[in-house]
Amino acid sequence: MPLLFRVENPVEGAGGLPVSTVATPPSAGRLSPPEDAGADTLHMRRAVAMPQAVTAWLQDILRERFNADITLRETDTGHHELNVPGLNHVVRIRNDYEHFERNPRNLPCGRWTPGNARWLPQPWHSLPAPGMAVAPTPLVTHDEHAGRSTLHYDVLGLTYWMLSRREEVDADGLLDANQRFPAEASHAWRHGYLDRPIVDEWMEVLRRVMQAAWPGLPLRETHYSLWLTHDVDTPARYGFLSATRLARAMCADIARRRPFGTILRAPSIRRTCRWLLDTRDPYNTFDWIMQRSEQAGLRSTFFFICGRTDPRRDAHYRPEDPAIIELMQRIHVRGHEIGLHPSYHCHLNPQALCAEADRLREACARAGIVLPKVGARMHYLRWSTPATLHALTGAGLAYDATLGYAKQPGFRCGTCHEYPAFDPVAQRALPLRIRPLIVMESTVIGNVLPETVEAAEDTLQRLMEACRRVRGRYTVLWHNTQLEHALHRRLYTQLIAHHQGGRS
Ligand SMILES: [Zn+2]
Repeated sequence: MPLLFRVENPVEGAGGLPVSTVATPPSAGRLSPPEDAGADTLHMRRAVAMPQAVTAWLQDILRERFNADITLRETDTGHHELNVPGLNHVVRIRNDYEHFERNPRNLPCGRWTPGNARWLPQPWHSLPAPGMAVAPTPLVTHDEHAGRSTLHYDVLGLTYWMLSRREEVDADGLLDANQRFPAEASHAWRHGYLDRPIVDEWMEVLRRVMQAAWPGLPLRETHYSLWLTHDVDTPARYGFLSATRLARAMCADIARRRPFGTILRAPSIRRTCRWLLDTRDPYNTFDWIMQRSEQAGLRSTFFFICGRTDPRRDAHYRPEDPAIIELMQRIHVRGHEIGLHPSYHCHLNPQALCAEADRLREACARAGIVLPKVGARMHYLRWSTPATLHALTGAGLAYDATLGYAKQPGFRCGTCHEYPAFDPVAQRALPLRIRPLIVMESTVIGNVLPETVEAAEDTLQRLMEACRRVRGRYTVLWHNTQLEHALHRRLYTQLIAHHQGGRS
């Protein structure tokens, strides 16, 4: 069956020659002519070997996503080759690893436009193609005689570069005030595709190539899901505060025109919070959150701060506080999840992170809560590739849910699927799962104004649909403190309603 794609070549941010046409001295790597002259009109292709650990990691991802029997190997023709034992047909993928690895922040970005709509879901008219200034023509070739299909875009290089966050390595000069790699510095933002899970979209193209090459091979199907998560920075507006801080909070609330009755009750609420979160506290929205999740058949995750590495930015509560223990027990009994919210400096402090993870486990154990595995999200979404990966792994955490941007929603890792972590500096896989964050409520709701609610709802829904199309997980961070106003609650319930409405 021939796989023919018409390719248009609009160029976006092109930075020179198409990747593989760059001639390099023989001493720099292996040089070999392209096998497939019909598709590859390149003169010479340089193929720098991909480290074995990267190949093995990518193979794991392909097996997880498509079929456990797939094997991946690098050839000396500038390709990767996918095989399935017992099947003669081979799927080859162009290999531009060297380019992704050497030039991680200045890649060109072409676009591929399929000529035949059946190869892609309807809303995708074209796919951004980082790493290529000019999309190849044709994108896919099929040689029945040779038993070979070839994808002429390096989907695996893209996957490596995006998932490992290679472009964030050694980016000190680009960091924001909280020492975070900002969305605006990312290739995805600069080339206008941050709102698309492009790794997943390219995996859909690869899936179709596999389906055509191996028609009898069952390929795994994933399912769209919504994951509601909540960072517990401030479980109570008036609880856990010193007398001075309470006075300051009350003054601030008068300025913010919070209901006067609530402000007057603040001292009494603070007293109650020594033992139990007061139902009158405006930030105590936990039961409301859990109820909404339960009504929709969802399981919420609450990440708790268990240490203080920056007194100004970390929490005022301790995990051992009776009111927090009671809250955790309530969350646990109702079937929701407890996770760790490592404090401000933990992203670069493995000892502190480890101590905080142990503290959470101990507090839970004393409260009779069994945590078979613990996941985390860093406070302020602080992250440093690869140091934070190692800090999380060293603390024995099972997964991380930090990787979204604080100021922009979207797909920082190019995917909404969970994947195994990889250190692009040491070039090794790590025993940690990455669950990318897609949106934090504060990036879309801003100040609660009735006129901005519609735009926020639209953004939340668009991102949901993007996840739904690639059957991934829509991970949403919604703080318990951002449900005080009716407009916020309306947005939140609408988000869940959209989720349920679109569920087939
Ligand atoms: Zn936080």
